[in-house]
Amino acid sequence: MIIDDQHYDVIIVGTGAGGGTLARKLAASGKRILLLERGDAMPLEEQNISDVDIFQKQRYHAPEQWYDGDGEPFTPQMKYAIGGNTKIYGAALQRMRERDFETVNHQDGISPEWCLKYADLEPYYTEAEALYQVHGQAGVDPTEPSRSGDYPYPAVDHDPTIQPVVEGIAKQGCHPYPLPMSLSLRDDDPTGDAEVFGVNPALDFGNVTLKTSARVTGILTNPTGTAARAVQAEVNGQPYIFMADIIVLACGAINSAVLLLQSANEKHPHGLANSSDQVGRNLMKINMSSIVEVTAQPNSGKFPRSVGINDYYWGSDQFDYPMGHIQNMGGVLQDAIFAESPPVLSLITKFMPNFGLKQLATRSIAWWTMTEVLPDPKNRVEVKGDKLTIHFAANNAEAHDRLVYRWLDLLKAVEKDSSLFSRSGMHPRGEVPLPVMANQCGTCRMGSDPATSVLDINCRAHELDNLYVVDSSFFPSSASVGPALTVIANALRVGDHLLERLK
Ligand SMILES: Cc1cc2nc3c(=O)[nH]c(=O)nc-3n(C[C@H](O)[C@H](O)[C@H](O)COP(=O)(O)OP(=O)(O)OC[C@H]3O[C@@H](n4cnc5c(N)ncnc54)[C@H](O)[C@@H]3O)c2cc1C
Repeated sequence: MIIDDQHYDVIIVGTGAGGGTLARKLAASGKRILLLERGDAMPLEEQNISDVDIFQKQRYHAPEQWYDGDGEPFTPQMKYAIGGNTKIYGAALQRMRERDFETVNHQDGISPEWCLKYADLEPYYTEAEALYQVHGQAGVDPTEPSRSGDYPYPAVDHDPTIQPVVEGIAKQGCHPYPLPMSLSLRDDDPTGDAEVFGVNPALDFGNVTLKTSARVTGILTNPTGTAARAVQAEVNGQPYIFMADIIVLACGAINSAVLLLQSANEKHPHGLANSSDQVGRNLMKINMSSIVEVTAQPNSGKFPRSVGINDYYWGSDQFDYPMGHIQNMGGVLQDAIFAESPPVLSLITKFMPNFGLKQLATRSIAWWTMTEVLPDPKNRVEVKGDKLTIHFAANNAEAHDRLVYRWLDLLKAVEKDSSLFSRSGMHPRGEVPLPVMANQCGTCRMGSDPATSVLDINCRAHELDNLYVVDSSFFPSSASVGPALTVIANALRVGDHLLERLK
């Protein structure tokens, strides 16, 4: 065991949306900051997913085995790299709505209130959009929350493939809006992510150190268990101990919970910060189904995501409960999750036996329909020895189905009106399977009551004075829009708290 001879002010474990952003926020303080990242830099050719065969199954799966609730092994779709899952994400960065922070009645139960409100986060959403160069247009989405300013960059134009579809959707009475997207504006790596906007600029400061291939395996506390003292890590396979005044976990919702559970000690027999038995529980990931339309003419298969629809976010004239969000996928050749989406295979085998996957990709316009999953303590991360089990059964299924079928009906109406689609245009749909871990959140929820939550309003563990979690674990409820912008904004908010504390 090597004990690192440096003493850091802050150790951040993980460099994704939460960790990478926090590093950037703290960097200019001059404090000694250590970033520990289990992955490495993702090679540029691998990032440029439009140039490779994304249909190669399991391309973005982590090299480890987890188990589902029935004991079946699977490899999770996640990226361990500098930038974390933002290296493979869709980069649609959207704010949650004001009501998402309040108690909302869903068809399947209650989405609980946050102790943090939209107004508290609004300045940080603004800061996050500036930092991640979000391109968007205010004032078009009817559910848009109030904003203190416009987007920092104008929305991207719709590709000619999608423009007439957007017009058709508007003709049906919906309000399609330009999907807010993070763009780096670099030719070689156009997507904005936590490496580009978080880690790299943080490393420009001499007081920030990054160690890669550094997998944190445990957190050590003081003898009374009231504060975290050090982290144990394997750096290139070699065991290390690193010490700091403040330790921040940002490993993603599943891995941060795993780390806390694996760090059980005499004072924390059920896992660190887990007297409430809430660590690892309430795992959420958004209900997502993909819908594929087949076009008469081929397209590039590489056009960007650019349109969102929230007309059914809070329900419809036939359904009084929230239904969710819809966005186009962009060219199917660019979408990492889509490669695993059941409709692709069912389309080919059932309806289009003469089509290859790539041929299909260049004749497709595809959509994600996304509905909030409600927190359920039975949906959880469980650690027994080295075995990690994910118990997860999606809920709020009827609301999701209604969104899917509402959207199918609308697309059919658009198609009737258009020569864009082949006569055999069809819309099989399918939900993403368990191994797709996109949008995971909620395993260390934030709240004011230590009996029912893990973190306080500053994302500090109720039970340990200097231990924080700034990834998507803190969500008390999910929403129907992707979580990344909220993770980023929250990391900036917690960053302000830490800067004050470190003074
Ligand atoms: C294919 C895909 C598409 C997506 N598209 C969108 C989208 O368009 N919009 C949106 O809002 N969200 C999207 N998401 C979700 C988004 O990427 C996540 O919400 C976001 O990255 C979560 O940030 P995080 O900080 O919680 O975790 P991550 O970004 O996953 O970062 C966790 C980091 O911790 C590291 N790590 C884990 N364990 C350890 C350990 N033990 N020791 C050291 N390091 C560790 C990981 O390597 C990683 O770098 C998508 C996700 C995927 C997978």
